[in-house]
Amino acid sequence: MPLDTAQTGPRSRRLTSHETRQRLEHARNSRLAQLRALDESAQSTDAHLVSAQTEAIQRVLTEIDEAFARVEDDTYGICQGCAKPIPAERLEILPYTRYCVACQGRATA
Ligand SMILES: [Zn+2]
Repeated sequence: MPLDTAQTGPRSRRLTSHETRQRLEHARNSRLAQLRALDESAQSTDAHLVSAQTEAIQRVLTEIDEAFARVEDDTYGICQGCAKPIPAERLEILPYTRYCVACQGRATA
């Protein structure tokens, strides 16, 4: 009977800091592109909507900057709520998140 079953399960590989930076870079570039697009549509679109969207994107850009700092500090991928590692699948979707799902729920509730 194999010894190495059940315990580990499918395991997601954690990214290297180089890969993490690339991913954050990508997230930042796409937000910057969104800002430019919003800027261009600002004339023809509802100004309130544009400024709300701009603010939301700028908040994300701030979070991305903070995530870069955490890569430098070597605290990237650690939940700031419970200090446990954030699952790799979650970082895949939200590379700049600072909370695991449970703590995110508490933080935004
Ligand atoms: Zn947590």
